[in-house]
Amino acid sequence: MAGPLLDGLALSRSSLPRTAGERLVDPDLAGKLADPRTRVLLLRGDRAPVRGAPSPELALLRPVQLREVVDAADLVGAVGLLLGVDADGTAHIALLLAAGVAAAPTWPGGQEVSWRDLRGIGADLNARDAGLLTTTVALARWHDGHGRCTRCGEPTVPAAAGWMRVCPAEGIEHYPRTEPAVIVVVRDPDDRALLGRRAEWAPGWFSALAGFVEAGESAEAAVVREAEEEAGVRCDPRRLEYLGSQPWPFPASLMLGYHAWTDDATVCPDGEEIADVRWFTRAELIEGCASGDVRLPPRVSIARHLVERWVGHVLPGDWSRE
Ligand SMILES: [Zn+2]
Repeated sequence: MAGPLLDGLALSRSSLPRTAGERLVDPDLAGKLADPRTRVLLLRGDRAPVRGAPSPELALLRPVQLREVVDAADLVGAVGLLLGVDADGTAHIALLLAAGVAAAPTWPGGQEVSWRDLRGIGADLNARDAGLLTTTVALARWHDGHGRCTRCGEPTVPAAAGWMRVCPAEGIEHYPRTEPAVIVVVRDPDDRALLGRRAEWAPGWFSALAGFVEAGESAEAAVVREAEEEAGVRCDPRRLEYLGSQPWPFPASLMLGYHAWTDDATVCPDGEEIADVRWFTRAELIEGCASGDVRLPPRVSIARHLVERWVGHVLPGDWSRE
């Protein structure tokens, strides 16, 4: 019997109402930036200001505080994003700044902040903040890569409160893209789990197999194809368990997580993308993680949760910490 979907996926916890309709009714962010209730998240390059430990939170600003932190000239022309509006009417807006923009070392009131990226901080933030930062990073990457129209090559301009770009030359609209990818832990008749090591990873690093869904392909077919291409293992296409999804905006993926089963434990790593694949028993993986001989992806990744679902509990260590 299928189990419940994974919960606690770090970047899937968004809780702020997105109020998509509001982007079209009131796409002018200037009005919301004049409202003292509004809270603003700065993203500088791929980093956001964070305060507090051990329970870090995004260091949001009131609109009047913006100029205490960043030079007014750097705010002009910054792309603004309406992330959502709370039930009490508080709008949350992100402003995208270039990586090189100077910011005050301390925040209004003398608060210490550090600039952190989503991979590093996503699992430690509360649900609302994790959602705010995930959406901001996803949109920032999209704006960054879509300054020109994909049809005619003319420059595009942001619209709909940061959720659209328009080609003025043709009057056509471009929307943020999400690219589906599958990620899978394959299990054999002895209920061992198959993990792979990519060629560029250090020895001992292992994770679930993963790859993009190709044009014209279903997610289920992509799981079977990726397992065969990367590990030479044939999964039963009628026996897949979908366990949940997580946005992975580096730059635009949506990871669809699966467990799959095979009747034949024969494997053959592709030798290019994947240098090594290994069947682990639970005892082997638990011992490997405890000793540090095996390192898994950090908790911010869905891969970690897929592996721990199979193990039945959380495991120590990860490859972000030596
Ligand atoms: Zn165009």
